[in-house]
Amino acid sequence: MMTENKSTPFDVESIRKDFPILSRKVNGYPLVYLDNAATSQKPLAVIDALVDYYSNYNANIHRGVHTLSQEATDAYEQAREKIRVHFNVRQSKEIIFTSGTTHAINLVASGFRSILQKGDEVIVSTLEHHSNIVPWQMLCESTGAVLKVLPINQEGELEMNEFSRMVSPKTKLVVVNHISNALGTINPIEEIIKITHNAGAAVLIDGAQACAHIKPDLQALDVDFYTCSAHKMCGPTGVGILFGKEEWLSKLPPYQGGGEMIKEVTYEKTTYADLPHKFEAGTPNIAGGIAYGVALDYLNKIGFDKIAQYENQLLQYATEQLLEIEGLRIFGTGKNKTSVISFNIQGIHPYDIGTIVDKLGIAVRTGHHCAQPLMDFYNIPGTVRASFAFYNTFHEIDVLIKAVKKAKQMLT
Ligand SMILES: *Cc1c(COP(=O)(O)O)cnc(C)c1O
Repeated sequence: MMTENKSTPFDVESIRKDFPILSRKVNGYPLVYLDNAATSQKPLAVIDALVDYYSNYNANIHRGVHTLSQEATDAYEQAREKIRVHFNVRQSKEIIFTSGTTHAINLVASGFRSILQKGDEVIVSTLEHHSNIVPWQMLCESTGAVLKVLPINQEGELEMNEFSRMVSPKTKLVVVNHISNALGTINPIEEIIKITHNAGAAVLIDGAQACAHIKPDLQALDVDFYTCSAHKMCGPTGVGILFGKEEWLSKLPPYQGGGEMIKEVTYEKTTYADLPHKFEAGTPNIAGGIAYGVALDYLNKIGFDKIAQYENQLLQYATEQLLEIEGLRIFGTGKNKTSVISFNIQGIHPYDIGTIVDKLGIAVRTGHHCAQPLMDFYNIPGTVRASFAFYNTFHEIDVLIKAVKKAKQMLT
């Protein structure tokens, strides 16, 4: 079943050499890392950027006149500029550094407390990660707004006809992920944004899962808010971004008070700093921001078209091989999906499969994938999820298939 002769858009073996962790062993077997939807591995260039910062120019930013502080500030702001270019954002002040997607979503949800009124509606989807559900529930509880849930079909695709019916003049916000972390479905966000804007509401797209696979053009999308976590796209943990249109970011109140986010402070009144600093209270993850810029350079050098093409080959191959296993069901069978496969084998708990394949060096995710409402929709406790990145190989898929077959044999 090996597919040595498949023509791939780049030399995977040479890419793998950029990732030190990929040559380690786990439980005596070569690591097969298939949990990329939870976090990606980091290339040496990103690791080096972190070491370089702390070794050579560690200082606090935006404050000191001294040389190190200026070097750190320049590097951090250059990273913001790289992010701006990458996402094709009009102005760098529309990019807020956050600790990740969760922080970014909470920032927006908190800001809308002063905007929403009783009876207004917020629409989320059945496909969402908990971090794109709970902040909106909290928002609705505190404002009296109503949370509506956009349904999906059995394939794990949003019911777009239903969406058109749900949107009304009461709708103030629509929040949907770009790609589902649990199923891999790529959502029709262009259409969602158009329909929502026609109704006069704002859209937030949770791009945490998408950004490793797709390079979104935020101006072309005309989206109001877009979020992303660096750690799922070869960058470090603890850093991410919120993109917001200037008109919206000016309207929202600050999320946290503190240093960095002020113009002038007296006990009578504080005036806030201009964008983006209004939303960047306190000392940020400076090294992380700089290394995020390096991660974007790294991915762009390979090219997102090639990454998508190759990951799609991995997805097709793994899907075909898995479906040959009797009793195996894949959840998330939409036409438009990325390299994430969620599956179960009849009569076997996903956790047991995860445990056995781990003994063979394979890292997959088992459980509800922070998407309990979605698991409830399918009436299952969870799934086994294998998620592929551009540094995975066809050989690793063969290793996975063999291990899953072995687990099935042991457990039935
Ligand atoms: C990972 C993920 C999140 C949460 O991101 P954090 O980096 O943990 O803040 C939110 N939504 C989706 C779709 C995700 O995949």
